[in-house]
Amino acid sequence: MSYEQAKQVAVEASLAAAQLCEQVRAQIVPEAMEKQDRSPVTIADFGSQAVICRALATAFPQDSVVGEEDATTLRQPEMADALAQVTQYVQAVAPGVTPEEVTSWIDHGNGEVRQRYWTLDPIDGTKGFLRGDQYAIALALVEAGEVKVGVLACPSLSVDLPQFPQAKGLLFVAVRGEGATVVPLKGDNPHSIQVVSPDDQANLRFVESVESGHSNQARQAAIAKQVGITNPSLRIDSQAKYGAVASGQAALYLRLPSPKTPEYQENIWDHAAGAIIVEEAGGRVTDMYGQPLDFSLGSKLINNQGVIVSNGSIHDTVLAALKEQVKS
Ligand code: AMP
Ligand code: MG
Repeated sequence: MSYEQAKQVAVEASLAAAQLCEQVRAQIVPEAMEKQDRSPVTIADFGSQAVICRALATAFPQDSVVGEEDATTLRQPEMADALAQVTQYVQAVAPGVTPEEVTSWIDHGNGEVRQRYWTLDPIDGTKGFLRGDQYAIALALVEAGEVKVGVLACPSLSVDLPQFPQAKGLLFVAVRGEGATVVPLKGDNPHSIQVVSPDDQANLRFVESVESGHSNQARQAAIAKQVGITNPSLRIDSQAKYGAVASGQAALYLRLPSPKTPEYQENIWDHAAGAIIVEEAGGRVTDMYGQPLDFSLGSKLINNQGVIVSNGSIHDTVLAALKEQVKS
């Protein structure tokens, strides 16, 4: 089966969403609203989900979309100003759109995991977005539990790639069996990317979350040292970390459960797009016990704990080090 149309639609929708997010950041100091789980959400999260769900609903009306946001909060009467703002930003993409259409597109993203579905994080790394740091728009198509297409728009990311030395804002794209590419968000010819080779000492570093509560930074530092990574870690918000590994800027991304939230279950939309991009760039993605991430069980990775992303060649060494650490 060809995924060409799925890729095209996902790329165009993600580019439009990235533009919306950057406009919000440039024009207003985005404020965080609080969700029921107390995590932050902004005008841009809602706008991005509306724009992408609109594109998916039009091109693939049969497909369900499992997205991070829903419009319940935005529909409250006291949120009318916020909804008006979201609508205004979405109108730049869809002229004449009404607030009702915007909320119904956002809620199109409350679909279920099925044989074939999309998963969407309209702003992955909202805390990074609010801080003026990294964030990503992450969209993936999953069939029978396997990610087939992944698109990751990283508007603030610049990596040291010879093809695009000055580019800030990158789009990573992968289709199963077809490799992974990167292209500046502003447009150019996509370039194929590969993970770092084991003998490239300069890029033998690891990446991890900025937010200390999202992983176990002390344990990650110990594991990295044990596998011979002596460079300090690079802390990046969002799935931009997967982009860094896929494009050879880092050999490893460690996400071990935080001691504050040992039972935390990862969301599918926080990993699906990034995982296929790293795999198609020649890397490997598993949980901390070496199990593949299982995207077929609902919106959480209920059968997985922690996430290990690598250039492939150091993966088994990292898994062995984790096993050793548990014993000692
Ligand atoms: P990052 O920018 O890599 O730290 O990841 C951001 C994502 O972390 C958000 O989209 C949240 O879904 C997720 N998150 C929130 N709380 C936790 C937690 N306790 N452990 C791991 N991930 C979390
Ligand atoms: Mg996220």
